[in-house]
Amino acid sequence: MTPDPHRYDLDALRSRLLDHGEDADKGEGEVDDSIPQLADADPALCAIALVLPDGTTRTSIDAQVAFSVQSAVKPFLFALALLDTDGAALDRVGIEPTGESFDAIKLESGTGRPPNPMVNAGALLTASLVRGSDTAERDARIAEGLAAFAGRDLSVDEDVAHNEHLLGDRNHALAHLMRAEGTMRVGADDAVAVYARACATLVDAETLAVMGATLACGGVNPRTGRRVVPERVARDVVSVMATCGVYDGSGRWMRAVGIPAKSSVSGAIVLAAPGRLGAAVVSPPLDAQGTSVRGRRASEALSEDLHLHSFAAR
Ligand code: GLN
Repeated sequence: MTPDPHRYDLDALRSRLLDHGEDADKGEGEVDDSIPQLADADPALCAIALVLPDGTTRTSIDAQVAFSVQSAVKPFLFALALLDTDGAALDRVGIEPTGESFDAIKLESGTGRPPNPMVNAGALLTASLVRGSDTAERDARIAEGLAAFAGRDLSVDEDVAHNEHLLGDRNHALAHLMRAEGTMRVGADDAVAVYARACATLVDAETLAVMGATLACGGVNPRTGRRVVPERVARDVVSVMATCGVYDGSGRWMRAVGIPAKSSVSGAIVLAAPGRLGAAVVSPPLDAQGTSVRGRRASEALSEDLHLHSFAAR
């Protein structure tokens, strides 16, 4: 019999993860230090949230603690780009995994397109494709789109946005490279500014779980009942999360967890198990692929305990 997620004890899971260690103090996992605000994250923060297709929301302690969404925004930028271009975004960005880190300076050979929308090159491009004739209009469109996924308005941490724009040298390099290839059609600095601002959007585990659940429910937000993107867009996005969402750790993730997901440097992971649930786990210490150490353990436990592995025959 499939276990009932309505009854699953998230605080017990959280305690198990925290008991596991002191491990973070022993050097298992490092908090990202690319900008001061991320370096200041509390390594002991640990939250888990689930949102089910009937709108039921389950949360652990800490699930309302805010953090910047970082790369967990990438599936939603891809969704908005697909929506606003009527699918033409698929001609502008590849969908193949890279086997390389999130910020690798690499484009698809032959086309000059970014390899996929889950690495930085791809997200810089998808953020440039959302509707709007200048950065302010694209910022506003992204804010409106993310709010629809979340079911509430989201604010932006302006200091994070500023620092990511200022200090994101590799993102500037990628934007210029795509300009040189003719695949980025907005100004390089504008592209980085819009992407940096999207990454600086503040969410919490509960909100991120609602966003994941909207993808898992075919594009309908299960809490508001509002259709945010067409079913086909949600399916395309979740497919690419499955193959590319955990960067060069995507293969291992799919074997061990088996749930389409997107990791981020803030230590958040958003998961979308189609038809079953959306989830988010957050804990800042990261492994070598930039995946939250406790987030991975939590995801493995959820997959196992709630029978969520996509390829399990039961
Ligand atoms: N804003 C970060 C960057 O572009 C996001 C990266 C991530 O979360 N992996 O460097």
